[in-house]
Amino acid sequence: DLMINSIYTNREIFLRELISNASDAVDKLYFASLTDKDIQLNRADLRIVVSSDQDSRTVTVSDNGIGMTKEQLDLNLGTIAHSDSLAFKSDNSEAQGGDVDIIGQFGVGFYSAFMVASKVRVVSRAYGHDEAWAWESNGVDGYTITAAERSEHGTDVILTLKDNTDEESYDEFATEYGLRNLIKRYSNYVRYPVMMEVTKTREVARPAGDAEAAEGDAVELQPEYETYTELDTINSMIPIWKRRGTDVSQEEYNEFYKSDFHDFSDPACTFTVHAEGALSYDALLFIPSRAPYDLYSKDYKKGLALYSSNVLIMEKCEELLPDYYNFVRGVVDSQDLTLNISRETLQHNSQLRAIARRIEKKVTAELKKMLENDREEYERFFDNFGRGLEFGIYNSYGMLKGELADLLMFYSAKQEKLVTFAEYVEAAPADPKVIYYACGDSVERLRKLPVVQSVLSRGYDVLLCTKDVDEFCFQAMMTYGEGDDARELKNVASGDLALASEDEKAAAAETAKAHESLFAAMKDDLGGEVERVTVSSRLTREDEAPACITTEGPLSLEMERIMAQMPDAGGIKSQRVLELNAAHPVFAKLTAAQKDGDADKVRLYAELLYNQALLIEGMPIDDPVAFANAVTQLM
Ligand code: ADP
Ligand code: MG
Repeated sequence: DLMINSIYTNREIFLRELISNASDAVDKLYFASLTDKDIQLNRADLRIVVSSDQDSRTVTVSDNGIGMTKEQLDLNLGTIAHSDSLAFKSDNSEAQGGDVDIIGQFGVGFYSAFMVASKVRVVSRAYGHDEAWAWESNGVDGYTITAAERSEHGTDVILTLKDNTDEESYDEFATEYGLRNLIKRYSNYVRYPVMMEVTKTREVARPAGDAEAAEGDAVELQPEYETYTELDTINSMIPIWKRRGTDVSQEEYNEFYKSDFHDFSDPACTFTVHAEGALSYDALLFIPSRAPYDLYSKDYKKGLALYSSNVLIMEKCEELLPDYYNFVRGVVDSQDLTLNISRETLQHNSQLRAIARRIEKKVTAELKKMLENDREEYERFFDNFGRGLEFGIYNSYGMLKGELADLLMFYSAKQEKLVTFAEYVEAAPADPKVIYYACGDSVERLRKLPVVQSVLSRGYDVLLCTKDVDEFCFQAMMTYGEGDDARELKNVASGDLALASEDEKAAAAETAKAHESLFAAMKDDLGGEVERVTVSSRLTREDEAPACITTEGPLSLEMERIMAQMPDAGGIKSQRVLELNAAHPVFAKLTAAQKDGDADKVRLYAELLYNQALLIEGMPIDDPVAFANAVTQLM
């Protein structure tokens, strides 16, 4: 009891262990029949039966495998950590030819029965022997072996469940539903049928007379049902991931995906990995076609199901998937894993890491394939899971951009559709080496922004980005592309856009110089809201907006807005710059007012232009009433 509870954390695995032993026993007999002509055996008769009795609180696992002699009962069940199965496996590893897949190796699994049972009785008759023996123990004071009866070779392991306590109930282990679930979960791919008496209902056939009688009364006869039981095979036996890809239809994969991963829709993409060598394994992987509702919540657990020798080890093995591919579902099965004695963990994580690396590469390759071959499907995929990829770049401080950047898509203002970075670059002029983007809450709104219009009107494309993570991802990336082709990612509303020619720059510097006092006065009027007021190099034509707000430093207006919604990061401000369009008639009015010494007018204009630019950006203005009053005053 002490030993077993320190090995396992999850008591329900007892059934997995007993069924695995039964499967090994059947496998050993089958193997013997291959070499021993005297053993006449029909493989189809080999099976494992699980049954329970709620009144006597017993659960029985029976097999018609090789069985145990009195000596073997003594040695195998009487000795902790003695695994006859492991010895069998190594003795026969040459001869097996891949058809025997023994699960046992540690010699402790059997004792897991004592996590749920107060008494375990094993009745066994070895193949080729007439007498049967019963081994019995309460798991505390040793065991007894006495003569018993059994009509056929094989073994029954009979557990008497522990009494319920205030904290623990063992009742579920005697229910049809509970047992069936455990078989499905842990032993679904054991190679022999695991059978159970299951309760079913059927319609009762009526005696012919009833229907005629009813017809006369014009009364609808309600159908009557009765329940009956039938021995059913519960496990599906053949793991679909071990079948050759060409033998399995997409339909079958879809069915497997939907039933095992509880999704209503077919997967968007199905693929397999088969590795052979020092660490061989099979993996069957799916990319869902929709995001599960809790994907972006803390409760979501990523991971792949991990099997070893067809037996479930872990339902969600996290180490097999990087965070940014957390949406991938599927199974990995390997005989070569060095399992921890409990089969709950692995001894060498380097094995998992090796598998994870290969899987990651495969997922990336599959996504690129989807992007090339099925644009529509890929766009749906990106809509569902793109955020996670961008988080991957952000969380790695840009280290992962080589892996992930080419999987990203953004809306191109010029091409009016989703494009990849590579597609943006391909369509863009060779200089400047920049990718322009704008961030906000909708494409429609972004498109109309003066700063976006200004870049577009000069013939450059702008990516219109609406996900909160976009700009954080861009800032982590800084550039896209390699070496001389690397392009800087630039927000059209911050810093220098590298669009103005040398002449334009010189002209702007001159204007700025000429109006230094006006800009200083306006900055004062705005009471510290802006870092500075200056001449715009983005808005330079009469027909463009009179002013816009840009930012300096790492934080853009959009990032400021996103941060303001985060509980812990509120109050961080961007460094704003009010840029004035020197070609706009309003600018002439401003300079005139300044010349006339009309400080009130300069202040009124400063506030109007600033608040107006904020509104255009979708930012809240501090004092809407004052703004409205100012407009009224002007009118
Ligand atoms: P393991 O399966 O890792 O060897 P267990 O503690 O589960 O360790 O079982 C110990 C040994 O008992 C097995 O190696 C096997 O020889 C024997 N054994 C257990 N259950 C059965 C069974 N149903 N039929 C025949 N032999 C069994
Ligand atoms: Mg075992």
